[in-house]
Amino acid sequence: MTDWATIDEIRERPPGCGPIWPVAAEPAAPLRQQVFEAVRSAGQISRAEMAKSLNVSPGTVTPIVSDLIAEGYLEETQATEAPSGRGRPPVALRVRPEAGYVVGMKLSDEVHTAVLVDFAGEPVADAMLPLRDPQKSMELRLNEAEALFADLLGQSGLAREQILSVGLGLPGVIDAGGRVIWSPVSDRRDVPLRELAEARLGLPVHVDNDANLLTMAELWFGAGRTMSDFCVVTIEHGVGMGLVLNHRLHRGAGGQGMELGHTKVQMDGALCRCGSRGCAEAYVADYALVREAGLALRRPHSAPLGGTQATLEALFEQARAGNETARAIFHRAGRYLALILANTANLFDPSLIILSGSRMRYDYLYAEEVLALMRDWTLNEAPKIEINAWGDHVWARGGAALALERVTASLIGRGAP
Ligand SMILES: [Zn+2]
Repeated sequence: MTDWATIDEIRERPPGCGPIWPVAAEPAAPLRQQVFEAVRSAGQISRAEMAKSLNVSPGTVTPIVSDLIAEGYLEETQATEAPSGRGRPPVALRVRPEAGYVVGMKLSDEVHTAVLVDFAGEPVADAMLPLRDPQKSMELRLNEAEALFADLLGQSGLAREQILSVGLGLPGVIDAGGRVIWSPVSDRRDVPLRELAEARLGLPVHVDNDANLLTMAELWFGAGRTMSDFCVVTIEHGVGMGLVLNHRLHRGAGGQGMELGHTKVQMDGALCRCGSRGCAEAYVADYALVREAGLALRRPHSAPLGGTQATLEALFEQARAGNETARAIFHRAGRYLALILANTANLFDPSLIILSGSRMRYDYLYAEEVLALMRDWTLNEAPKIEINAWGDHVWARGGAALALERVTASLIGRGAP
């Protein structure tokens, strides 16, 4: 029995050929949304340049710009570049920053971070909250999210009503509706986090995987702004991945794709925290390193030095001091990293792979020999690799980008021609 269609089944299919686009499948953004986004991505731009970038006539954008100014989303400003001739100083357009604000947040199993940004994407306030209670209850996580939110409001002097939306990220598997299928920060599976967070914060909330948030941060604020195809691989407590295809974040049919950390690299291999065996994460992530650290540090595994972070630091120090066992542990993790990077390059042919996450401090993971291995195992030309050790708030900024993206579509794209 195969899944292949029989000739009879093929005959029963709809007439015609070519992909059938359902009416609701993401149409191109309305022109007024495109106009707004062209201004936001330029920082500031004249009407004529903006019309040119959208390949429409200046006459077409003029009434749209007037509407967007009247509605308070755009404003005129003096152009920073001097005109070539004499005459009136040129007028440029920019986003009106106080048109609205959004919050981005990342929950993790060590420290939570949050940022508040204005409508032009500029940070207004940021906040951090170390995990207070090691219990993995989603109730506690929501309390902490509320505390972070209150901190941001207090710092910025803004009222809750001025915040339009929240982008919330956490590690784990999240479905397209914001339901947490599984997460290391929660002791329950299948939690409707979007609904719970909306009820707590009284605002629309968009929930996504933390690796997607980081990829959004690169796409909106970082190295990915000009790139059509790139990916971000994160090495933290787990191994995550975000993929951008044609300037858009790719999430898969159910919003749960790109689980690079759970692709299998060894049949019947090491046990992963997802319950499977042989996942890449079980060889590269911090708990994989900690599992073996006892050997190098001559301590039983059951007694790590004050937690994962301290154990990793001690292991890294040992490796630097010449401890061969410690070096071998990082080296092995690096080889597995090379393997999954090569697989990624062979599958997607990205122009750039950005390696990110707090474990990037451990430079053994991406030593030249690791990158050389990746190049060896890549069939065609290997992508460029960039190491990006942004600060803790980058994840939360990605959450803010997610919130801005959704708010833009609903406020500015809504019902417009
Ligand atoms: Zn796994």
